[in-house]
Amino acid sequence: MECLADLRKNLMRRGLNLLIRSGKPEDILPSLAKDFGAHTVFAHKETCSEELHVERLVDKALKRVGNGTKLELIWGSTMYHKDDLPFDVLELPDIYTQFRKSVEANCRIRSSTRIPVSIGPTPCVDNWGDVPTLGQLGLEPQEVTRGMRFVGGESAGLGRSVHKGCMSVFYLQDLLKVYKETRNGMLGPDYSTKFSPWLAFGCISPRFIYEEVQRYERERVANNSTYWVLFELLWRDYFRFLSIKCGNSLFHLGGPRNVQGEWSQDKRLFESWRDGKTGYPLIDANMKELSTTGFMSNRGRQIVCSFLVRDMGLDWRMGAEWFETCLLDYDPCSNYGNWTYGAGVGNDPREDRYFSIPKQAQNYDPEGEYVAFWVQQLRRLPKEKRHWPGRLMYMDTVVPLKHGHGGGNAQTSRGSKSRGGFRDNHSGRQPLLVTFSKSTGLPRKNSTEQELIATHSATHTSPYPHLSLSRRPFTPLPQSLLQEDRVCRHRMRLRRPSHLPRNSLPRDPDDWYGAER
Ligand SMILES: Cc1cc2nc3c(=O)[nH]c(=O)nc-3n(C[C@H](O)[C@H](O)[C@H](O)COP(=O)(O)OP(=O)(O)OC[C@H]3O[C@@H](n4cnc5c(N)ncnc54)[C@H](O)[C@@H]3O)c2cc1C
Repeated sequence: MECLADLRKNLMRRGLNLLIRSGKPEDILPSLAKDFGAHTVFAHKETCSEELHVERLVDKALKRVGNGTKLELIWGSTMYHKDDLPFDVLELPDIYTQFRKSVEANCRIRSSTRIPVSIGPTPCVDNWGDVPTLGQLGLEPQEVTRGMRFVGGESAGLGRSVHKGCMSVFYLQDLLKVYKETRNGMLGPDYSTKFSPWLAFGCISPRFIYEEVQRYERERVANNSTYWVLFELLWRDYFRFLSIKCGNSLFHLGGPRNVQGEWSQDKRLFESWRDGKTGYPLIDANMKELSTTGFMSNRGRQIVCSFLVRDMGLDWRMGAEWFETCLLDYDPCSNYGNWTYGAGVGNDPREDRYFSIPKQAQNYDPEGEYVAFWVQQLRRLPKEKRHWPGRLMYMDTVVPLKHGHGGGNAQTSRGSKSRGGFRDNHSGRQPLLVTFSKSTGLPRKNSTEQELIATHSATHTSPYPHLSLSRRPFTPLPQSLLQEDRVCRHRMRLRRPSHLPRNSLPRDPDDWYGAER
């Protein structure tokens, strides 16, 4: 809504206005096209199934109007244009480095389009419509009391990159030249660019950022850090192109490589992760930041993803869907692309990327400042205790870590008989109990629980009805897709409950993106 209000304000400065209507695109656009006698409806081309479905509905509805209005879909959103790639997008390399090298050697980035001074006469409209309020959309306003408070719209987005005639925050404080050293931070506004929410809403263009980086390099300094912002933006491009190549497999449990494995959907475990109550301050702080602000650092996202997948053994799509619900910068390609990487089912064959919490805490929050910022109880503890406060000062850990530090909370790490088992000590009941074989170190299958295959019917519900994950209703599965027997995301065959995925050797990559970063 802030984005719309800002867009309207900026258009009005140019003597125009923004027509605002609420409803489904396939209902609103054809009726507007008819009223105004439009010959073309322009929109950005999308790549994922739900968005493609809307494109098809709009196209069909425009044809039904019968006054010859066309739908013209334009490629946007990426730094490199899809048509400029040195290969067909369906031949996209499976390894990011190959993609990057090929693109950097063979393509150039198109310049961003300047806004024309005048965009033509304003059409005659009686009612331009109002930006809806949260209440009208059935949502409750949520006050951000701590952490980053993002403001929507191009003006605010440019305020971060451009200030007083294109002087950016990164310019003014010279942050670009140290980005590579700071980008793994978790606390504060300036360790990374924070461009992602504005990029996700289309408020700023990656091509414009590219030009700003070039200008900085000309006027100030060009080094590894200035290049690294573009390197990261190229990951964003990669995931978008990948979504075309992988199609719906990006949303399936086995991911693009159709990896076979079994995952738990334990409600209690999931909720402890979601609510920041796992007993591991590093996880809890990150999850609290996410639900409070709608943002989490890239470092934090990798850590909580690894924890959900590797330590809890949960179905990675539950984590991805919670991110989808909360993230201000949510983008299906980047979100599901990164989650499939983290779950080891992405198209990159490197698997089992385990992030050890003790190591991550030591490297990225050695003084415990980040965890103390988000978890109140930890503030009064000495710095060296903040990551391992123990159950008396904090709470029990919900699962022991698969590798490394047991968590220091006696009931979970030392109390269980077999390595890796856990109990719900508060209620005395035993939840889905995962045990590890002493001889092989592999998880044993829980023999007391029957395996269920839940095939979800075409109701408008989440695939996880027992978890009430989403703040918004799921998109209904279109009848046409059902008839074609095409698998659509949110309509997946789920196995539950099941044992953890295959155990793996401890590895602690600095990133799961490969050696380059
Ligand atoms: C599990 C997981 C889920 C994620 N979900 C999303 C998502 O829904 N939307 C989203 O925009 N990013 C997502 N990311 C990528 C990354 O975490 C965010 O883009 C980044 O944290 C945003 O902060 P920033 O703008 O300060 O990033 P910076 O470090 O300043 O990077 C600059 C820009 O590069 C791009 N970028 C950086 N890292 C990545 C990456 N790994 N993948 C794709 N693009 C990247 C972003 O557009 C970012 O704004 C996810 C990462 C993980 C590990």
